[in-house]
Amino acid sequence: MDVFGETIVVGAGIGGLAVALALRRHDINVHVIEQADKLLDVGAGVQISANGFLVLNALGVGSACSRAAVKAHAVELIDHKTAQTVCALDIEKYNKGLTHLMMHRADLINILFEECINAGVSFSFSERVMSVSNDTKPEIVSSSDRYCPEVVICADGIHSVGRESLFGKVAPYFTGHVAWRALVPNTTDHPDVARIYMGPKKHVVTYPIRSRSVLNLVLIEERDTWAKESWSEQGDADILRRSFCEFNLGIGDLLSKVQTPHVWGLFRHPVAKKWYEGGVVLLGDAAHPTLPFMAQGANLALEDAWVLAKCLSNTSLTKTDLQAYQDMRKKRVERIISVAEGNAWKYHLTFPPLRWAAHRTMWAMSQVMPGRMVEKFDWIYRYDATAET
Ligand SMILES: Cc1cc2nc3c(=O)[nH]c(=O)nc-3n(C[C@H](O)[C@H](O)[C@H](O)COP(=O)(O)OP(=O)(O)OC[C@H]3O[C@@H](n4cnc5c(N)ncnc54)[C@H](O)[C@@H]3O)c2cc1C
Repeated sequence: MDVFGETIVVGAGIGGLAVALALRRHDINVHVIEQADKLLDVGAGVQISANGFLVLNALGVGSACSRAAVKAHAVELIDHKTAQTVCALDIEKYNKGLTHLMMHRADLINILFEECINAGVSFSFSERVMSVSNDTKPEIVSSSDRYCPEVVICADGIHSVGRESLFGKVAPYFTGHVAWRALVPNTTDHPDVARIYMGPKKHVVTYPIRSRSVLNLVLIEERDTWAKESWSEQGDADILRRSFCEFNLGIGDLLSKVQTPHVWGLFRHPVAKKWYEGGVVLLGDAAHPTLPFMAQGANLALEDAWVLAKCLSNTSLTKTDLQAYQDMRKKRVERIISVAEGNAWKYHLTFPPLRWAAHRTMWAMSQVMPGRMVEKFDWIYRYDATAET
C-alpha cells in the first residue's frame, strides 16, 4: 500500500488539473491518477468565459491561455435559414475588462498539465480507479494499487466512480438532445465571435480556435433515439449533413468539410445531494454534470477547483471546510444548470409565427437596450470565485 502525501486527485481533466495546481499554490502535495495513458489531443472547442478565466489567471496560466485562444468579442444569435443576425451580444463592449476565450480543450489541458509539472504535482497514467471508500479514512483501490491519503478529490467526470462508490448509482435520463461536434479547417472570414444558428428543434454553434485556423462546430438536435453519453463516440458525417441540410451557415458550405464528427447523447444527471463524505470530495462534472447550453461545464469545474483548494488549505482539515465548499458551490451550480436547461427550447422554437415573434423581440431588445442583454448574465460571468473565497 502506498501513501501519496496528503491529497490524491482522480482524473486529469480540466477540473482535476486545476485543483491539483491550486493545491500546489497552497504548498499541499498532490498526486493525480488518470486512466488514459497520456493526455491526448482529444476533444474540441471549449469556451472559457470570464468567471473561468479569472480562476486561470489566479492560477498563473491566464497569459498562456490567452495566447493559445481566440478572444471572443461577441455572441451572435442568427436565424438558421436566412443566416441573418437576430441579435448580437457585444461582450467586449458591455463586459469591459472581462475576458472570454474560445480554445481547444487539449490546449487548455496541456497548459494546465505543464504548469502542474512545474509546480511539483506528480502523476500516474494508465491507472484506473476502481473504487473509493471512506469507512474510517479515505481509501482508493485502482487497477494497480491501493492508497490511503488524507483527502481524495474525485474529478473523474460524468461517469464518476467516486460519486458512485460513495453515494450509489444515479440514473441519468436522456434529455432528447443529441450533440455533434466537429472541427473543420477555417477557410472563411468567420469573425472572432461565437455564433448560434437557431432552427426548429436544432441549433448550431460555430467559433474559431487555434489562431483562427480551425472552426469548432457543435450541432444540437432533438431526437427520440438515444445516443451514447461519451466524448469519444464517432458519428457518421453524412447523417450529420442530412440532419442539418436546412441550415444556412452563411459562410460557405462548412458541413461538407466535416469528416469525422463525434456524437454524444445529452443526459440529465441530478446534481449530487452531498459533495463529500469524510475526506472524499467531488468536483466538476463528477458532482454536477452540466448540459452544454450555457457553455459552463469547464468554467464551473475551474471555480470548484479554486474554492475547494482554498477550503483544503486550512491546515487542520475538518468536515466544516468541506461543508463550506459545498455551501459555496451548490446553489450557484444548480442555478446555472437550470438556466442552461431552459436555453435549448428558446433556440429550438418550431411554430413559425412564434419563432418570428421571439426573434423580433430579441432583435428589438438588442436595439433598445443592448447592454441589458449582456448584463442579465452578470451573475454568471462577473462572478469571481477567487475574490469570493
Ligand atoms: C475526452 C474528453 C473530451 C471532452 N471534450 C470536450 C469538448 O470538446 N468541449 C467541451 O466543452 N467539453 C469537453 N469535455 C467535457 C469538459 O471537459 C467537462 O465537462 C468539463 O471540463 C468538466 O471537467 P471535469 O474535469 O470535471 O471532467 P472531465 O473533463 O470529464 O475529466 C475527467 C477525467 O477523469 C478521468 N477519469 C474518469 N474516470 C476515471 C477513473 N475511474 N480513474 C482515473 N481517471 C478517470 C478521465 O479520463 C478524464 O481525464 C470533454 C471531456 C473529456 C473527458
